[in-house]
Amino acid sequence: MGSRLVSNREARADIDRPPAAPDYFVERDGVRFAGMHLLLDMWGAAHLSNQEVIGEALARAAGAAGADLLQLHLHTFTESGGISGVALLAESHISIHTWPERGFAAVDIFMCGACDPGDALPVLKDIFKPRDFRVTEQRRGLSRVTGGWFTETLYPGYGQSIEIIDTLVQEMTDYQDLAIYQTPALGRVLVLDGIVQTAEVDEFYYHEMIAHLPILAHGDARRVLIIGGGDGGTLREVLKHPRIEHVSLVEIDSRVVELSRRHLPGLSAGAFEDPRARLVIADGAEFVAGTDERFDVMIIDSTDPVGPSLALFDDPFYGNCAELLGECGILIRQAGVPFFQKEEYVAAYRKLGRVFADCAFALVAVPTYCGGHMALAWASNDPENKQRPATAIAARFRAAAIETRYYNPEIHVSAFALPAFMKAALA
Ligand code: SAM
Repeated sequence: MGSRLVSNREARADIDRPPAAPDYFVERDGVRFAGMHLLLDMWGAAHLSNQEVIGEALARAAGAAGADLLQLHLHTFTESGGISGVALLAESHISIHTWPERGFAAVDIFMCGACDPGDALPVLKDIFKPRDFRVTEQRRGLSRVTGGWFTETLYPGYGQSIEIIDTLVQEMTDYQDLAIYQTPALGRVLVLDGIVQTAEVDEFYYHEMIAHLPILAHGDARRVLIIGGGDGGTLREVLKHPRIEHVSLVEIDSRVVELSRRHLPGLSAGAFEDPRARLVIADGAEFVAGTDERFDVMIIDSTDPVGPSLALFDDPFYGNCAELLGECGILIRQAGVPFFQKEEYVAAYRKLGRVFADCAFALVAVPTYCGGHMALAWASNDPENKQRPATAIAARFRAAAIETRYYNPEIHVSAFALPAFMKAALA
């Protein structure tokens, strides 16, 4: 979330840019990475001062993994008898450093391409006969995951780290770097271009608020347009409303929809199969510029104002949205985390104010959107929409009979109360 990402983004551009030449990254179980790295500690190992045995061990280990040995270089430290060696491979390397005085050896095996460094381990075990053998493995080239932790660095000097059990998906789509992680603390997490989009544990905070605030404020919404939202969470919440007749979800990246349905099925929870839902794979800015459909509510559930979604934060887009919304229509959009992203919510307020009579913000604190509250920008030509009394909202909530875990009529009304620093920034 956030324009400040631009500077990080430029720094990362070379990491994420698809390679011009043939791509030697490997793909296994839907994950694209440079290669597998094994760190091997051997305790109580034999032959640690024997250059010949060590040379043969490295060569045979390379062969067992299907690697091409280019060169073998070994050096014996006369004093300790310890040996440092490296087998240079077409697929990278196997290196070893030994402490015969401790019976300890550290081996480092990194192989790219189709080789499996795991196949080298039985050879090394057989030759060095260690009392204790410990292996740590890491897929290299997985952007953003280091030592089993994914770190989101959105704001200079501040970010969040999430422990990863497994990388279920990691790929460069036509639009962005997409990853889905299995995590112990947050369930499965969807990350686009290094930014947390949604996590199973708290997604309902955001999806309930961005859907139910405008629909219950409107009171008679039948047709809804969602721009972005390919994970399906917002669609799920919108379709809870029995009076909704049609929802178009316009998502630019089909891979987000496909992989979210496969790895995060609880988010859409069957919403894409609902006959009232229409999925359109297209650029949201082009869609609103070209359609003559009309909507009662528009929900812009997009990524941040960078890359594919930049046009979704611009005047022409807002102008087209205003035309497609009926007189009492409501537009709501994620507008960043005010504590770190003042320019984003101020810009949204200014631009929406050019085409809508009434603009405001509702706040929701989503734990995995680090930095405090997230601002949801609100725009309508009917100021009544924002000022519905709690009693009216409560009556509509009861009538809709929808299940929620975060949203309720009291939260609805209080969400529009802004802190003084935001009011000052918008004045
Ligand atoms: N809740 C998340 C947040 O607040 O950051 C957003 C989640 S949702 C997955 C964001 C979606 O917006 C992504 O799937 C992305 O592909 C989509 N998107 C980005 N630019 C778009 C565009 N121009 N048109 C349609 N969808 C777009």
